[in-house]
Amino acid sequence: NKRVILSNYVTGFPKESDMKITSGSIKLKVAEGSKDTVLLKNLYLSCDPYMRWRMSKLDRPSFVDSFHPGEPINGYGVAKVLDSTHPKYAKDDLVWGSTGWEEYSLVTAPQLLIKIQHTDVPLSYYTGILGMPGVTAYAGLYEVCSPKKGEYVYVSAASGAVGQLVGQFAKLAGCYVVGSAGSKEKVDLLKNKFGFDDAFNYKEEPDLDAALKRCFPQGIDIYFENVGGKMLDAVLLNMRLRGRIAVCGMISQYNLEKPEGVHNLEQLIGKRIRLEGFLAGDYYHLYPKFLELVIPAIREGKMVYVEDIAEGLENAPAALVGLFTGRNVGKQLVAVA
Ligand code: NDP
Repeated sequence: NKRVILSNYVTGFPKESDMKITSGSIKLKVAEGSKDTVLLKNLYLSCDPYMRWRMSKLDRPSFVDSFHPGEPINGYGVAKVLDSTHPKYAKDDLVWGSTGWEEYSLVTAPQLLIKIQHTDVPLSYYTGILGMPGVTAYAGLYEVCSPKKGEYVYVSAASGAVGQLVGQFAKLAGCYVVGSAGSKEKVDLLKNKFGFDDAFNYKEEPDLDAALKRCFPQGIDIYFENVGGKMLDAVLLNMRLRGRIAVCGMISQYNLEKPEGVHNLEQLIGKRIRLEGFLAGDYYHLYPKFLELVIPAIREGKMVYVEDIAEGLENAPAALVGLFTGRNVGKQLVAVA
């Protein structure tokens, strides 16, 4: 059983060498007498920015625990059930949810393991558009921000796993949508593949406030926050009255020992802006309703999804680390088997 192990707690930017690949043996059968246990063959593993927190020895309150050095890291994935003593899962079921970064995982009383019902779409989609990032985009935009037709929506890290979906959901809601991303290739995707009305490369904008004023002369009603830092400060200056900011993530801060300060929060007062953090995990009860919208949209070509697939567990550390340099184009995942 090949596995990806965290070598040591990480400080600063994560490196490939913070993880190592090991091999061991595993019995491909659930031990007799063990209850509620599922043996999974992992097919796809998801690379997600929040995993960076888990690589640190956390010294402040967090909704996740640290990984343990010397043990395999874990996260979201797509897997096939090889054996099960759990009443909800049977041999050959396909599932998505939390699993280990290894070829086979033995999971007892799984916290989140959802049976896959629709298999006429790529299975890898259950790490992205049909998995946690999909629910994140859906809940963050529709539930947290309640978009109305004609509103002005801005998305940062817009070509990524979550961002590309936020833009498409906002278009389905009849909004005007602008995204930012870190390369020309990504900006082209936003405009030509995902249907954003406009897009810009934030790395080429010396003045983010000016870039936002150019794209939104009338201001922003909804900001889907993925990056934090200077971008949030610039957005605050450009929000409209009763604007909503869904704080999904702040990836620009995750590798800093001390997060940058935000300077323009007083804008919230006069403009009556609502700034709300949220977690995908609070919204899985909406998953059936979410699938009713997204499965037909995929089948009819009304929604598209771009993935960046690394082949093999050996390449998983580089894929995960690449999220923090913007190496990924679209949803980063690892094909294991
Ligand atoms: P992406 O697929 O968007 O990958 C990460 C991207 O972030 C990179 O490709 C890069 O794109 C951008 N990035 C990296 N470093 C920086 C930086 N210093 N400044 C600005 N941009 C940077 O990841 P996801 O879509 O999976 O995640 C997007 C955000 O959503 C993250 O903040 C994540 O933590 C959050 N999230 C929150 C969830 C929740 O439940 N609240 C659930 C899932 C994700 P570029 O080249 O454009 O810079």
